[in-house]
Amino acid sequence: MEDSKRKYTFKILMLGDSGVGKTCLLQRFLENRYTDNSESTVGIDFRLHTHKLSGHLVDLQLWDTAGEERFRSVGTTYYRGAHGIILVYDTTKRETFNNIDSWLLDIQRHAAEGVNIMIVGNKCDALGQRQVSQQTAAVFAAQLHVPFFEASAKSDLNVQDIFTNMSVMIYNRLIAPRILDSMADSSVVTTRTSPSLTSSVRVKANPA
Ligand code: GDP
Ligand code: MG
Repeated sequence: MEDSKRKYTFKILMLGDSGVGKTCLLQRFLENRYTDNSESTVGIDFRLHTHKLSGHLVDLQLWDTAGEERFRSVGTTYYRGAHGIILVYDTTKRETFNNIDSWLLDIQRHAAEGVNIMIVGNKCDALGQRQVSQQTAAVFAAQLHVPFFEASAKSDLNVQDIFTNMSVMIYNRLIAPRILDSMADSSVVTTRTSPSLTSSVRVKANPA
């Protein structure tokens, strides 16, 4: 198949403490709506969002937790095949920011090497209740070389940007290098696996 016609699937996980707004962020992104009492996501594995990136159709397979993050661990299967992880904390709850370290450990243990990570401070609309400054979080994220956004599912701040940015990051890591290589290589990207950059880039002589 011609490369421009290929459809890619990126598996993206929502992660972070219970109550930080993971489900609300997804609901805002997928349905452009917000409810103060979001329903539980029990029974739903993932939801799809299709968009176009550099002329390619990209399916974002968005995975939400079903509440098991209350125990600060979501199990190894959740991480399987993930290309990107959106790590969310609550700007009005310091504890959820402090717990990012333990989520990062979990990611290190269970996710594929090179997985794209992004840190998101949600509920930044709640001005009077802020417990984590933007500066503190920005410095923390910069030290980790991880992109950082403050967002609000409630007032629809940065929500689209979070998912677009994640998508572009994954695209740049996994797909863009292959396109450079594709004229000389007919093999197709299989997004079911978690290919690393090194395994995806092969230098072959152009047969033409
Ligand atoms: P999850 O456990 O991480 O999935 O968190 P939820 O998405 O269920 O959100 C928990 C609660 O936080 C919601 O019921 C809302 O009341 C509140 N919430 C979520 N997002 C926002 C936001 O952007 N701003 C404010 N002020 N509250 C939010
Ligand atoms: Mg939830």
